[in-house]
Amino acid sequence: MHRMDIFKGQEVIEFSRRFQSDLDCKKYLAELKWKGGFSCRKCGHNGSQIRKDFSRTCNKCSDTESAGADTLFHKVKFGLLKAFHICFEMSTSTKGLSALYVAKRYSINHKTALSFMHKVREAMKSSENHPMKGDVHVDEFVVGGQEAGHTGRSYGGKKKKVVCAVELTESGKVKRFYALKINDFSAKSLKPIFENHIDKEAKVTTDEWKGYRPISKEYDINQIPSALGLNFKAIHTMIHKVKSWLRTTYSWVSKRHINRYLSEFSYRINRSQNKETVFHNLITRMVKAEKIYAQNII
Ligand SMILES: [Zn+2]
Repeated sequence: MHRMDIFKGQEVIEFSRRFQSDLDCKKYLAELKWKGGFSCRKCGHNGSQIRKDFSRTCNKCSDTESAGADTLFHKVKFGLLKAFHICFEMSTSTKGLSALYVAKRYSINHKTALSFMHKVREAMKSSENHPMKGDVHVDEFVVGGQEAGHTGRSYGGKKKKVVCAVELTESGKVKRFYALKINDFSAKSLKPIFENHIDKEAKVTTDEWKGYRPISKEYDINQIPSALGLNFKAIHTMIHKVKSWLRTTYSWVSKRHINRYLSEFSYRINRSQNKETVFHNLITRMVKAEKIYAQNII
């Protein structure tokens, strides 16, 4: 079978050379979408004609399906070329970008940029198929508002609360990172990060917060004193990074969308060793995802 020429690397000039028009992007999407062969979405027939714009027309019922149909690129208002460039920047930049920046740089409407970027974040969401193993640290933090002077978990109601987990390498470096919005610091709220992202065999370490005690019935949790964070250096560095990223890139992150921003952050962290294929990985996810209508996004 024909092997797809996947785009590799983070080089901007090379990227602009490869994708010069909407048609170049359609070709890429079509190759990805139908690499396992064509099957008509209406009648299931396998025979088709390939059109000039790489869409396919079924030989039996004549239904024509575009390369972007039923993907997260479905009816993208500003064209695929801009959409590909935004995906490239969002996946390869280390900093992330705001919708205001994207709107200006690609001369598109701010709301349109925001809605498309949320679709990209949906595609960046963890599959939850690869739970963290080995040495895992779990901690919580708050975003927004003042934090000085707080040591307990009795933070005010306005701040957004987040629980996060890191998988560590043997030398104590961050291998993977996940974070989830929580409503409070109870065991019930802390549990989903375990269920979604941590293997039952993992060696989990937390500080002495009582909210973790009920969870230790099902998970191997060792609770140790935080010692002002000294015992949790790697996870605290990550918390510092995600907070300053949220603060500098997005002055205001709504409670409704915070998980999307956390997905974006985790996606880039967890793929920092696979930068060569990160763009292709993102486009693959955009193609596989169900289409999401703008009204469900914002
Ligand atoms: Zn058909």
